[in-house]
Amino acid sequence: MYLPLQDIEAAKLNENDPEHLRIHSLETFGTHDGPGIRMVVFVQGCQFRCLYCQNPDSLDVKGGTIVEIQELVKRAVRQKNYFGKEGGVTVSGGEPLLQRSKLSTFFRMLHEEGINTCLDSNGRLNTPDVHELLRHTDILLLDVKHINEEWHLKLTGQSNKTSLQLAAYRESTGKKMWLRYVLVPGWSDQEEYVEEWARYFADYKTVERVEIIPFHQLGMHKWELLNLEYPLKDTPTPSEEIKKKTFDIFSKYFNNVVLK
Ligand code: SF4
Repeated sequence: MYLPLQDIEAAKLNENDPEHLRIHSLETFGTHDGPGIRMVVFVQGCQFRCLYCQNPDSLDVKGGTIVEIQELVKRAVRQKNYFGKEGGVTVSGGEPLLQRSKLSTFFRMLHEEGINTCLDSNGRLNTPDVHELLRHTDILLLDVKHINEEWHLKLTGQSNKTSLQLAAYRESTGKKMWLRYVLVPGWSDQEEYVEEWARYFADYKTVERVEIIPFHQLGMHKWELLNLEYPLKDTPTPSEEIKKKTFDIFSKYFNNVVLK
């Protein structure tokens, strides 16, 4: 393991100050994380340790920059005209659920301004305060990184149980969800598991879209900058054949599959 895992209690350090968020970075005109044009807030801190993480500098729960929630709301309001009918604000990471209570406040304030909210999460927690955050979330972008528990553990350092539980919870609320799948050769491209993943969610009514995100090497330099050994440095990007095969499997079960 290349960075120390910090437990939930440590991450709660971030929860003590209700008016500020700990963020990694901000994207003003994002088009990759949710519908339309969006302001994307990448928060700091994550408990997964995905082998392919493109932002290893976002993992440390004590890193990043502290920003006032009110300031972020003002910024979103200034940008509102650009959001159009579909756009809005997405919170991504790192892992947003580590700052769940403050994000509930943030999303509530955005809704008061008529701004759409998306949450991009790995589903690490399934607790009442996460459910409260989901109440203020228009679309949950849920990353389910592997359907097989052992492979998920190898790939992320964590179990997939809470991610699956959170998906089931979201389904029970009837509110929208997009599922995301990072396709990594040798790690998450096994046909039988892709099929199992798709079958698992096939009957979900709230899944509006499934996104396949092909693995790439663009984050490699960040690992080097942090003096960390990048475990997937020799892993190729998925071939056209693998991408097509995965797309075809998902398309048997879902109407709206998008290969990013
Ligand atoms: S969940 Fe996201 S931020 Fe966390 S380690 Fe995985 S890829 Fe990186």
